[in-house]
Amino acid sequence: MKIHEYQGKEILKRYGVPVPRGIPCFTVDEAVMAAETLGGPVWVVKAQIHAGGRGKGGGVKIAKSLAEVKDWAGKILGMQLVTHQTGPHGQRVRRLLIEEGADIKAELYVGLVVDRVTQRVTVMASSEGGMDIEEVAANRPEKIHKVAVDPVAGLSDAQADDLARKIGVPEGSVPKARAVFHALYKAFWETDASLAEINPLILTGAGDVIALDAKLNFDSNALFRHPEILEMRDLDEEDPAEIEASKHDLSYIQLDGNIGCLVNGAGLAMATMDTIKLFGGEPANFLDVGGGATKEKVTEAFKIMLRNPKLAAILVNIFGGIMRCDVIAEGVVAASRAVGLKVPLVVRMKGTNEEQGKKLLADSGLPIISAATMGEAAKKVVEAAGKA
Ligand code: ADP
Ligand code: MG
Repeated sequence: MKIHEYQGKEILKRYGVPVPRGIPCFTVDEAVMAAETLGGPVWVVKAQIHAGGRGKGGGVKIAKSLAEVKDWAGKILGMQLVTHQTGPHGQRVRRLLIEEGADIKAELYVGLVVDRVTQRVTVMASSEGGMDIEEVAANRPEKIHKVAVDPVAGLSDAQADDLARKIGVPEGSVPKARAVFHALYKAFWETDASLAEINPLILTGAGDVIALDAKLNFDSNALFRHPEILEMRDLDEEDPAEIEASKHDLSYIQLDGNIGCLVNGAGLAMATMDTIKLFGGEPANFLDVGGGATKEKVTEAFKIMLRNPKLAAILVNIFGGIMRCDVIAEGVVAASRAVGLKVPLVVRMKGTNEEQGKKLLADSGLPIISAATMGEAAKKVVEAAGKA
């Protein structure tokens, strides 16, 4: 789950990471009041959307008077902000953060991720913070320093100091950078974050180390432990189809292709998408109906897939283990009837009650294309989508 910058900063502040004073707002009037409350002379008006690159896209502006705050707030609120992370349609700005202007001497970078290879939290830092870290990673990887943290010992002072020095923190500010790294690591660990990115982490004229931006993502499977973080969820920033799916306990991710996939089990769903691509097709979605899917759940899954205007064909790929093929078949038939299915449907099922399932599909009179293997199913669905 993603949250907004201002929410990320609230969390970081609780852990002792210095952040600028700031006030979130929803209207231009609130923005001006926030600026008055903060006091000048310089404010920054920041669009709050779940995507980075806002500065470059025109969503972060400096204001030197209340009139300018008002002006920028009016321009940014409601704009369709396009950044390299939003896609070409951009994201509508509904919230702002009004922040005190910081005295930036240097823009650094620090990021924390769970590294699956080392199975550790990796802290990455760079002297080249600001708006172009992707370019640094691609062309000057030697400028990015990494440390894998021992999960038992945690981040050591020596590791923190070493990172600070490598990214050019002057000696006098090393203790401050060390404190920030420790606080960030603790915040990351205790909130079950999957990503924390502070870009830029700044050095101020006075030698302070401050998080000027904050991007935090959390492991959705751990959110039950963090109700206060779950409350920060902003449904306006999420895909409507994915929200609908989550209500029915379906794992659904919208993709760019035109072949809908309905599969039980995340691994099989991934393999199904790979097989579709192998035969030259493009999946329209990832969809795992889970091990205990009911007829109702399968119907909802169909409805969600069919909301996608690009959908040209559907592949249902089921392995009947705990899940019985006849239950899925019943669901597929009921759903096809309920939604008045207009796109070709290819079904491949194997396992428990396979024969009963196939019979139900055949007896339904629906134009269902059946396939015996995954390869055959993928080939048939790619063909069907191509004709659509
Ligand atoms: P994004 O990464 O989405 O572009 P940032 O929050 O990193 O958004 O802001 C972009 C740039 O704007 C920063 O690199 C920094 O130079 C400037 N900036 C952001 N917040 C402040 C602030 N409070 N004071 C001064 N400059 C700021
Ligand atoms: Mg940034």
